[in-house]
Amino acid sequence: VSRNRTRAFIPEMLLWEGEVQRGLALLVTPAGEIAGVASAVGPEANAADVERVPLPGQALLPGLVNGHSHGFQRLIRGRTEYLGAGRERDDFWSWREPMYACALTLTPEEVHVASRQAFVEMALAGITAVGEFHYLHHQPDGTPYPDRLELSRQVVRAAREVGLRIVLLRVGYARSGFEVPENPRQRRFFDPDVEDFLGDVAALRSAFGKDPGVTVGCAPHSVRAVPRAWLERVAASGERLVHMHVAEQPAEVEACLREHRLRPVAYLRELGLLRPELTAVHGVHLEDEEIRALGEVGATVCACPSTERNLGDGIVQADALYAAGVNLCFGSDSQTQLDLLGEARMLESHLRLLRLRRAVLDPGGGREDGLGARLLFAASRGGARSLGLPTGELRPGVPADFFTVQLAHPSLVGADAARLLPQVVFGASSAAVREVVVDGERVVRGGHHPLAEESGRAFSRLSRRIFG
Ligand SMILES: [Zn+2]
Repeated sequence: VSRNRTRAFIPEMLLWEGEVQRGLALLVTPAGEIAGVASAVGPEANAADVERVPLPGQALLPGLVNGHSHGFQRLIRGRTEYLGAGRERDDFWSWREPMYACALTLTPEEVHVASRQAFVEMALAGITAVGEFHYLHHQPDGTPYPDRLELSRQVVRAAREVGLRIVLLRVGYARSGFEVPENPRQRRFFDPDVEDFLGDVAALRSAFGKDPGVTVGCAPHSVRAVPRAWLERVAASGERLVHMHVAEQPAEVEACLREHRLRPVAYLRELGLLRPELTAVHGVHLEDEEIRALGEVGATVCACPSTERNLGDGIVQADALYAAGVNLCFGSDSQTQLDLLGEARMLESHLRLLRLRRAVLDPGGGREDGLGARLLFAASRGGARSLGLPTGELRPGVPADFFTVQLAHPSLVGADAARLLPQVVFGASSAAVREVVVDGERVVRGGHHPLAEESGRAFSRLSRRIFG
């Protein structure tokens, strides 16, 4: 859509300069950037050459940014919630087997169908950008596709059709683990050489260089899945945006200690990877010294509470991370649920159960909206920072990525401006989301996504094909 008029989005409430305010219009340039705000009834928002977009009864907030996603895992939602016959326990490690079985069966078009459905659900929940931690690269026998980027292209295509901004975090995967025999179900993930991995990162960057809605990052899967030489090579490359799974499970930390005689964060520091642009996904099993080290450089920890609790990983020590100066963000990871505000709510809730206290992550100062603001910030600007995006906040000169909630929705009715942020973070159902705008374009209108039906039908067919 090419536009030539400035638009004035006119909600009932708008988060601007840290305050939820009434009577303001958000001005968006024809190029889809935020120009600023004006009085909703003043001349600026009502000029003849301004297109007015009334959003009555809605509150407008910065777009949510999903820092960590594996889109295709939406397929196994609700399908791994039992103990297999003869099994005494299930955990992260055994959960991976049905997940791998699913990953092994998908055709390129099916990767597209599964990812698109996850992205539609994200858009409907107010998410405007996703960091897709993409490790499904090759044919089921491990041979690269004639176009090595085939599956990455399917994922990017899915996100762009849905209208989401995507950061394709191209994963490097070299081995099943330290002194772990190769798992044939991981064949689609493996590259024989670190140069294949870094070469694809560069190739993806040039393939999508013309689309401002697509950027590319580098994601060595974990200290378990790549050897030291790969991480040294990544550290020496020009790649700055680096995401890794770090300390999700105690066994992974123990293996790192056995192989490198260092805990994961100390190991990353030794390699030169402990930098402001590093995102440690999960960071559940960190010791104080590691938390301090992450905070000293201002790195990010991406918490994925719905997945971490589903897999029995543990609880992210976000209180200690905030105290150390770490940037926090959220990811939907395994798509067990898809509600980023729900992730924020869960992180705080898990810590309440753990510490036997309330308002654990409150930044102090006695503000009624302090905790809500902090959690919303993590779900928006915190994620954008992790992904190297300028979005996640409403200010002049950045892309207009935002969403609105319907204030009359039963989960929000009675909300007021002074407490709107905690009311949204702790109370709003994602069904309250009404409009979602990316780069100034409306992706969700009136709570409806134009691809929802088509995507849902294709996804149902795919689910039947795989699971019967
Ligand atoms: Zn993950």
